[in-house]
Amino acid sequence: MGLFVHKYGGTSMGSTERIRSVAQRVAKWRRAGHDMVVVPSAMSGETNRLLGLAKELMPHAATPEAMRELDAVAATGEQVSVGLLALALQAEGVPALSYAGWQVPVRTDSAFTKARVASIDEARVRASLAAGNVVIITGFQGIDPLGNVTTLGRGGSDTSAVAVAAALKADECLIYTDVDGVYTSDPRIVPEARRLGSVSFEEMLELASLGSKVLQIRSVEFAGKYRVPVRVLSSFTPWDIPIGDEAESGTLITFEEYEKMERAIVSGIAYNRDEAKISVLGVPDRPGIAFQILGPVADANIDVDVIIQNVSHDGRTDFSFTVPRNDYQRALDLLKGKVQPAIGAADVRGDTRICKVSIVGIGMKSHSGVAARMFRTLSEEGINIQMITTSEIKTSVVIDEKYMELAVRALHKAFELDVAPTAEA
Ligand code: ASP
Ligand code: MG
Repeated sequence: MGLFVHKYGGTSMGSTERIRSVAQRVAKWRRAGHDMVVVPSAMSGETNRLLGLAKELMPHAATPEAMRELDAVAATGEQVSVGLLALALQAEGVPALSYAGWQVPVRTDSAFTKARVASIDEARVRASLAAGNVVIITGFQGIDPLGNVTTLGRGGSDTSAVAVAAALKADECLIYTDVDGVYTSDPRIVPEARRLGSVSFEEMLELASLGSKVLQIRSVEFAGKYRVPVRVLSSFTPWDIPIGDEAESGTLITFEEYEKMERAIVSGIAYNRDEAKISVLGVPDRPGIAFQILGPVADANIDVDVIIQNVSHDGRTDFSFTVPRNDYQRALDLLKGKVQPAIGAADVRGDTRICKVSIVGIGMKSHSGVAARMFRTLSEEGINIQMITTSEIKTSVVIDEKYMELAVRALHKAFELDVAPTAEA
């Protein structure tokens, strides 16, 4: 018999009726003889409601003191969920115990609203399991070295679940959610998108950071670091289907070598509309210029993503990069106000109507010409590429936002993602 961690998202925990169905599913696994640990999110909408209340009363600038209280408030959503789920399990006749993060404890650093898990003490959980209980642990929250309640950032329950699975060396961490797996692309944009039976951990990391919202990025990093097998699956299947069917469904995030997997060269097409482009024009081309431009941006805690510098003409060059759209105005003001006069650039321009479209696939490591096929596809659609960035297993382009859907669909087709892959000989 195994040890399994189940994670249920907000929608799956959305009402007492749904919580009952979660309890029935967990009870089924428990009755099959498995040790079960469950990590639920807050009921859907609850974290937003709590943060909304907090913000109404918060000082304008979020002080460190205010951030501490934000976490104290936000963490209560999960506190309610675990208690309700334990009650529902007990009503099913299954002994169950709930624990808040601090009771386990789940130790984190002190970065309120985006804390990182440092360690999880398994002793109490193990003892409760050994006594025959299903153990239910709050997602999203932990406790810092000073005993303050912290949260792990929005969507952080995924990370809680994977971290708990890593600490307990669980056989698998099953993430039950409102989609039935990871798709070759967003089915809202590409109706032909297919569910992937499995995806490598590296690909999942790229897909998550390139805009696929299925899992919190940190949970994927955690799974990679501790080699936790993670399965993303639907919580909307009837609770009483055979465990075997459940355990085979969804998408498994694996560590298998590419050669052993059945798969296409490209596994998925991701997109991201959350960035904006900034160009610093007519920059004197001399050593240190990238640092003079990007140093102040980094100091302002603004993440820079795609960067290009052109070849220079007459000692001057253009320098462009993308930043999160939320930080766009701040970055632009900073560059116009401070950087441009300091380095003597001719102009600073911005564009928020861009998007990033990426192809991701572990097969790109061993096949050449994949990026070229991407560029040809976009050129056949008449789509102009503004920036390009690559890694071993992805190629991303920045294009005009209005062509995003067209680009995603064309690439999905060009890489034959609408057809199921066959095993390589
Ligand atoms: N309840 C938290 C949120 O809404 C954490 C989670 O659901 O994963 O972000
Ligand atoms: Mg989520």
